[in-house]
Amino acid sequence: MRIAIGQLWQETNTLNPLATTRADFEQFGICRGDELVERMANVNELGGFIQSMRSWAERPEIAGLVRLPAWPSGTATWECFEWLRSEFFEAVDAAGSVDAYLLALHGAMVAERCPDVEGAILEELRKRVGPDVPIVATLDLHANITREMVNAADVLVMYHSMPHIDIFETGQRGAEALRRILVEGDKPSTAYCKIPAVVPAENSNTEADAGIAVDLKRRVVELEAQSIVLSAGIAPVQPWMDIPQFGSSVVVTTNNDSRLAQATCTAIAEEFWQRRQEYMPTLVSVEDAVRFAQEENGLVVLSDAADATTSGAPGDSVWILAELLKYRWPRAALVTVVAPEVVSQCESVAVGTSTNIRLGGVRDSRFGTTIELKASIERRFDARFIMTGHIGKNMPIDMGRSVVLRHDNNVFVIVTTRSGPHFAPELFRTAGLEPFDASVVIAKSPCGFRAVYERHASAIYSVKAPGCAPSDFWNYDFTKIPRPLWPWDEIERWTPTESLMQK
Ligand SMILES: [Zn+2]
Repeated sequence: MRIAIGQLWQETNTLNPLATTRADFEQFGICRGDELVERMANVNELGGFIQSMRSWAERPEIAGLVRLPAWPSGTATWECFEWLRSEFFEAVDAAGSVDAYLLALHGAMVAERCPDVEGAILEELRKRVGPDVPIVATLDLHANITREMVNAADVLVMYHSMPHIDIFETGQRGAEALRRILVEGDKPSTAYCKIPAVVPAENSNTEADAGIAVDLKRRVVELEAQSIVLSAGIAPVQPWMDIPQFGSSVVVTTNNDSRLAQATCTAIAEEFWQRRQEYMPTLVSVEDAVRFAQEENGLVVLSDAADATTSGAPGDSVWILAELLKYRWPRAALVTVVAPEVVSQCESVAVGTSTNIRLGGVRDSRFGTTIELKASIERRFDARFIMTGHIGKNMPIDMGRSVVLRHDNNVFVIVTTRSGPHFAPELFRTAGLEPFDASVVIAKSPCGFRAVYERHASAIYSVKAPGCAPSDFWNYDFTKIPRPLWPWDEIERWTPTESLMQK
């Protein structure tokens, strides 16, 4: 038995003006063939695939296709898409005949002229290999699941958790679904429901004590634990994509029981629809959030969701930084900014020397602002580390040459060359700073940061600042989305059976 594995991972935010290019993938870490199997054996979904298959009694041979990852950012260029497609199918050709394909996809990648990159890749793969070779794909919980994806794949397996702390396990679940088809002869029967609703990310914490996200996660986990169910998932799509077929989705795949698939899929979709208002977050103004942080003794985390680099925002917003500079902080106030030109400028300045820096409004001039700052160069470093927690398990990250700037009121600005997890404790520690000892940390993340900060923070505020990943996205100009779509539109009546697809 021979099984091919591969990965295409990028989340697109079409509000971000910075295009995603081939260079972004090449920089992040492409690997192919045996090297993929060797290097990714404990990393993210690929690691889950590999470890799971190595435990099968059948001991299948694992053929590495290609790993194509890039950090979340703007729409991919057409050239980038064509290159990804050719990389992927060259790897498929090179692997030759296999018994099945197991793919780790994100599910929310958009390219110029191709609003559904993963759907296009899956469709082409299906066309090439015919109807009988199983294709199982894993997807992020923020995937925009399309009819094309559902039609092309035998099973779609989604993350159950936000923060995404179950990535490796999702890989294992994907491999297990494939094993049941290949070894036990299960016959996948899928129900898919597209819900005409898109919700903000702040209240999607499935690990909280209570709430809609907790309840929906419990439902899909319990469902998937039934032996007749191959996969059950709910995908509240990432909300910053101006594309057709946009909306949240529920997918349930059973072993040959279409009635159960349909009944459970529509019931979960109905609950999501009825309770959608619960996803609406409470936001605090920049001024209030920073003032609250000043009044607190312990660590305060300010979530700058609108500039969340995990949501594909550019990462050079300085709206909150500008406010932090107005106060004196008893311990460190930590802020991150993506600004390659500032890193270059600082390369020629001696550590400990004070210099004038212009920060912000370069990568995103529409929503961003620029500030002038007199700061000393505290440290230069390479932002390279292994990340475990939200979004990654043993995931290598390299944000390039970086610099720590220190303002005399205890504000530290960590400036990186490239975007990345601008909330991760590993980033701050690589910069020589301990985030849990700080007065305030700006997390450029709407919700995922909670996986590590929740238990250390005395207070957390979701801040309403301008940016490319705004929480009130429905107030922005979207022209390609299907209408009506909540919360752009009020929808009086909707029933899940209206948008149910079965196969
Ligand atoms: Zn996600």
